[in-house]
Amino acid sequence: MNKPLEACLTIAGSDPSGGAGIQADLKTFTALKVYGCAAITCLTAQNSKGVLSYKAIDGNFLYEQICLVLEDLPISHIKIGMVGSKEAARTIGKSLQGFKGQIIYDPVLKASDGSSLIQPGTLEQLQDHVLSKATVITPNLPELQILTDTSCETPQEAISQASHLFEKFPTLEAIVITGGHFPTESNALTDFLVIKPKSNSKRGPQIEKSSHQRISTRNTHGTGCTFSSAFTAYHLKNGDHKKAFLKTVEFLDQLLRKSSLYYIGSGHGGLVHHLFEQEQRNL
Ligand code: PLP
Repeated sequence: MNKPLEACLTIAGSDPSGGAGIQADLKTFTALKVYGCAAITCLTAQNSKGVLSYKAIDGNFLYEQICLVLEDLPISHIKIGMVGSKEAARTIGKSLQGFKGQIIYDPVLKASDGSSLIQPGTLEQLQDHVLSKATVITPNLPELQILTDTSCETPQEAISQASHLFEKFPTLEAIVITGGHFPTESNALTDFLVIKPKSNSKRGPQIEKSSHQRISTRNTHGTGCTFSSAFTAYHLKNGDHKKAFLKTVEFLDQLLRKSSLYYIGSGHGGLVHHLFEQEQRNL
């Protein structure tokens, strides 16, 4: 028998413009040479100028999509993006019962044009059914503020609030806070990885940082989805939160730079994932 090829499953919304959602996730998996599967939570109508509308997929149908993939393919990592509805949150929770691998959740709540990507009143269901199963979450600052119900603003405040999530959600092993929304005086920005302390340790969480230049570009659509799926793919390849974090920041940096040279719609274009070039020595 051939050896099983470890694979990732993304559970997310569809973006027909190709910049965000499952389209971004699958392109990321392929750019990083990881086999990707996709179960669709909802369909959106959008382009680079914004999200016009979305329709949730029926819960039973979402359940079938996820279960059929999980019972057949060697999925070690699941990435969750836009959940969209209460029914989808409950369905995801039910279908992932018993899954033993990594679950990386990007808590997509709003698009960058401000439109809401969850039905009103879904937050509690997201916490009970999705966040409660995640091993890693990858919020940006506004998403972290909503998840912690605080108005944290500085990196120190954000890290401190994020650390409380380890007590509330025992499956969580690490939290990546992407740094694009922190106020900075220079052109540099910093992403943070907060790793849960070992249960017998008296120390606080381990904090890793990665600083890089802010790239001046309009092509930022779907960077959150791409970050989270790249983290998932790198984690599958190397099994380590810190290595996955550092490689993901480099991946995003390279893609933002390369994608900034292209016109991909009149608003905020997506990233051009196939431009990514892996350094030979790091394959
Ligand atoms: N559409 C879908 C399906 C998404 O999953 C997301 C973000 O995760 C977005 C839109 C929002 O993308 P952006 O933040 O670039 O507006």
